[in-house]
Amino acid sequence: MKRKVPFFEYPRAFTDDKTQVLEIIDKVASRGAFIMQKELRAFEVNIAKFIGCEYTSGVANATDALEVAWSIANLQEGDEVIISTHTMLATASAIKLNGGTPVPVDIGGDGMIDPDSIQLAITDRTVAICPTQLNGRTCDMDRIKEIARRYNLFIIEDAAQGLGSTYKGKSAGTFGRFAAISFYPAKILGSLGDGGLLISNLQEDHEKVMRLRDHGRDEQTGNVSEWGRNTRLDNIQAAILDFRLSKYVDVIERRREVAQMYQEGLSNNHNLILPPAPTSQGSHYDVYQNYEIQAEKRDELKAYLAKEGIGTLIQWGGMAIHHFRDLGFDQELPNADMFFSKCIMLPMNTFISNEDVHYIIEKVNSFYSI
Ligand SMILES: *Cc1c(COP(=O)(O)O)cnc(C)c1O
Repeated sequence: MKRKVPFFEYPRAFTDDKTQVLEIIDKVASRGAFIMQKELRAFEVNIAKFIGCEYTSGVANATDALEVAWSIANLQEGDEVIISTHTMLATASAIKLNGGTPVPVDIGGDGMIDPDSIQLAITDRTVAICPTQLNGRTCDMDRIKEIARRYNLFIIEDAAQGLGSTYKGKSAGTFGRFAAISFYPAKILGSLGDGGLLISNLQEDHEKVMRLRDHGRDEQTGNVSEWGRNTRLDNIQAAILDFRLSKYVDVIERRREVAQMYQEGLSNNHNLILPPAPTSQGSHYDVYQNYEIQAEKRDELKAYLAKEGIGTLIQWGGMAIHHFRDLGFDQELPNADMFFSKCIMLPMNTFISNEDVHYIIEKVNSFYSI
């Protein structure tokens, strides 16, 4: 029988730790502890410790986290924010919906925002940079912070894919005024539905986030002195996430192991460009949210692998931000255009076995007659 390796098996995001998760749900729900209870607070404390930051707030999803962050940053009409063109549309929409103008720029060879392109895109309207910590890798934050300092810009990180990745020992999510993390089920730390985290660097910002996520209410007094919204992380989800966080280092270890297997099996295939290897990273510690390669004859490869039972995915449906011409983007970004003509993600998760990985390697190489 032919092997089947789906890109991501959604049912297993529940069934793999079903017994413990059902126990947690039973315990929390039987207390009626659904909204803003001690499990949420415990999770916020534990994940702050893991990240090495001071202030975290559970919110409904990472897109909301970004929207709340930009609303507190108080963008003015025409304020420009530089983002990577290789990111989710949510990075841009959160800026746009809060009155700013997202300006996508080009990427480097590793798919991350290119600091030189940031520099070239700065105008007198630029107020901020929003780097995306893509695929479980942190950007070159020394250069980005240096540019931000020089031009007096602030940083908000889209770290939706970055939980646990570091740059020079410092975690994604700790480099700017705010950062957003996603707990979407296919993210490395996934919940059973939507979920997100907003990291704040300043106490004052954090206190504001805690009010804005809960209708503007002050948690202690219940007093409302500003307009808020409802974007809370469910207490049951927080309890499940807290349990999964306690096993997170093992999850990252396994992902890095899979990345190393891909590296060893595919690095001699010159039709491919692989992501940086886990063993040769210098300043970077990557957690491999995704394993995104660039491949010659990408579409044929995808079809061939599908025929062999292997699921792959092209990130963002193959659309970089500047490709959304109907949304008004008119940038010409040649590196990204090249990248998006070749990029494809191989299965990268804790569901696949070593045999699965070897099977994928064998089929990718055999497509190129290697
Ligand atoms: C997943 C993702 C988001 C959105 O996260 P949600 O929790 O689904 O809102 C934003 N940006 C990037 C880079 C992502 O990968």
